[in-house]
Amino acid sequence: MQFSSKLPQVGTTIFSTMSALAREHQAINLSQGFPDFDCHPQLLALATHYMKQGFNQYAPMPGVMPLRETVAHLLYNCYGANYNPDTEITITAGATQGIYTTLASLVKSGDEVIVFQPAYDCYVPAIEVHGGIPVYCTLKAPHFTIDWQEVQQKLNANTRAILINSPHNPSGTTLSENDLRQLQTLLQNTNTFLISDEVYEHTVFDEQLHQSVARFPDLAARAFIISSFGKTVHTTGWKIGYVAAPAPLTQEFRKLHQFLVFAVNHPLQLALSDFLNDASNYNELKIFYQNKRDFFLKQIQGAKLKPLHTAGTYFQLLDYSAYSEASDTELAIRLTKEQKLAAIPLSVFYKTPPPQQLLRFCFAKKEETLEKAAEIIQRL
Ligand code: PMP
Ligand code: GLN
Repeated sequence: MQFSSKLPQVGTTIFSTMSALAREHQAINLSQGFPDFDCHPQLLALATHYMKQGFNQYAPMPGVMPLRETVAHLLYNCYGANYNPDTEITITAGATQGIYTTLASLVKSGDEVIVFQPAYDCYVPAIEVHGGIPVYCTLKAPHFTIDWQEVQQKLNANTRAILINSPHNPSGTTLSENDLRQLQTLLQNTNTFLISDEVYEHTVFDEQLHQSVARFPDLAARAFIISSFGKTVHTTGWKIGYVAAPAPLTQEFRKLHQFLVFAVNHPLQLALSDFLNDASNYNELKIFYQNKRDFFLKQIQGAKLKPLHTAGTYFQLLDYSAYSEASDTELAIRLTKEQKLAAIPLSVFYKTPPPQQLLRFCFAKKEETLEKAAEIIQRL
């Protein structure tokens, strides 16, 4: 049978590819972003508690009410925003499903969606598979700031949505209050929706505030805000997240959500709800990861690979131009095979990669892992 692909350009994600290569070569894996330590034992106890209590059948389609209420509290406590848990918050199978379902509910054939590159890898395929056209704005190293004039030039009557991500994967930069104010001005009097990927909402460093779209009522009125509990409580394998959006948007979102997954893992939602009712379980994350960033930076001080500034996320970019002239993909493969250290090449996050020599390293790791990785980096 001939299969005419809807996504002929798409291969296997870089995260699967690099993690598989790291396993094959027994390399330290700082490529795919996930912690190499476990979540809090209390969260595990809650998960088993709810399984033993018999919450093992379908959860309600939009998510269990206690978890939606927890999310509503979180959005109020952190950003002063009011979301109705009944009509404006949906629990998803991770942020990936939240993003895909949002794009599926919005994008019609020929619609344009503005994306910023480097762009997290699940955005563009989800736009294109629905006949949408990604319109790229490029963030330039080392600061990866948005040129709002460029955005203004690309914004037109066909722009169905703008997709932002702060803290930003892969660059580790964050959007400022001024950025969001500029976006708010640009979107006034348009019919353009906003999709805001905020999975690292609790991982912002150096006493900066996370500038959630939820803080800006005029933006929030047109926005789907997407987050992931995987990043917040160290459970990327649970694949549970949320989407917060005004009621009419949520209604459209749920039309598709119910047919993509119907509902999400029931006992784990209940466990997450209890665990996150203690706000320290998300408020302390920023210090936890700031310490890891600083530990890693100290260990690699003086190496040929030079760090760029990480303001949020658990990723550190290193500029290797003083070490090698190889392309980032070539070097990432070589480092994994020969030096036993895996990282992600930045070029994979671009449609047309600029000439730069950057690798992304995940520091959501135990100190001993970071130490071993740093020893390798120091030897280069
Ligand atoms: N967006 C960004 C920016 C991410 O880094 C990730 C995951 N690492 C996701 C979305 C997907 O999150 P999830 O694993 O909850 O699907
Ligand atoms: N978001 C993680 C990263 O950026 C990976 C998630 C995945 O493997 N799909 O590394």
